[in-house]
Amino acid sequence: MIPSAFEYFAPTTLAEATSFLVAHPDDAKLVAGGHSLIPLMKLRLAAPTYLVDISRLPGLSGIREVNGALEIGALTTHYQVESSAVVRERLPVLAETAALIGDVQVRNRGTIGGSLAHADPAADYPAPILALDAEVSVTGSKGQRTIKATDLFVDLLTTSLKADEVITHVRVPIPGARSGASYQKFPHPASRYAIVGVAAVVRLNADGSCASAAIGITGAGSKAQRAPSAEAGLAGSKLDDAALIKAGAAAAEAIDPVGDIHASAEYRRHLVREFTVRALREAAARAGK
Ligand SMILES: Cc1cc2nc3c(=O)[nH]c(=O)nc-3n(C[C@H](O)[C@H](O)[C@H](O)COP(=O)(O)OP(=O)(O)OC[C@H]3O[C@@H](n4cnc5c(N)ncnc54)[C@H](O)[C@@H]3O)c2cc1C
Repeated sequence: MIPSAFEYFAPTTLAEATSFLVAHPDDAKLVAGGHSLIPLMKLRLAAPTYLVDISRLPGLSGIREVNGALEIGALTTHYQVESSAVVRERLPVLAETAALIGDVQVRNRGTIGGSLAHADPAADYPAPILALDAEVSVTGSKGQRTIKATDLFVDLLTTSLKADEVITHVRVPIPGARSGASYQKFPHPASRYAIVGVAAVVRLNADGSCASAAIGITGAGSKAQRAPSAEAGLAGSKLDDAALIKAGAAAAEAIDPVGDIHASAEYRRHLVREFTVRALREAAARAGK
């Protein structure tokens, strides 16, 4: 399909981009990698009058370690995250997640900011971003603010970003000592989107029991979410099979799964149960190393 006609604008500064969005709050769309928006436009599910191409804005890509966290520019591509030495060393779960996205072409063009702003319920990043307690920095006409990942995803393709706000960076805390993380997904066989994906971050006490656990789930419902009841049940427990199976069951209860042509709601619930166990098991094993 061919998209509806649109006008193309390529701002050279962030201020220019936000001013344009303020002037056209209902009919302008940012485009970064274009690998979510352009397919929607080709299907005529989106028909913006103006495309605001931020892909060449300076200062919005790259990865650096700052005060115990990785700061990842919004325009950083999935391939750059996947192949980054600092991500692989300090937050390997994020590099592993990026490597599971789509195919080489998608990973070469798609950006972390675009993925989070798009809030596709089957996208991969939201699961680890939620479990790692990340936050996004945004700039709009009224200045800058920070949004916690847990406050970002509102509903299907809907975030708490305002119409004139641009994600500039994602800040992902690096888990401390005796911590481990894992992302496990059941991919759609063609697109690789998550039918269900579960990220777990586990921190152990010195005696090997669980100090804390965080679980991020994508693919299952209309938006990515945490599973607080499953997390709370793990704190203080020994992470044996019984505890993991109980947490998997609690995570499966916490979601409101959708059924569609790819998987029924019951099957998605089953996958959440199973992939929560797998993610927790690997995160705990990594934490114990
Ligand atoms: C064939 C195919 C397979 C895919 N498989 C997967 C997969 O397995 N897993 C997965 O997670 N994803 C998958 N994707 C999606 C891909 O990862 C996208 O690249 C990504 O979700 C969106 O990033 P983008 O930079 O392309 O965003 P764009 O398409 O440019 O933009 C998407 C939305 O975000 C907004 N936006 C972009 N950047 C910003 C910003 N900095 N601040 C505010 N708003 C912004 C845009 O206005 C638009 O609404 C797939 C895509 C394709 C085409």
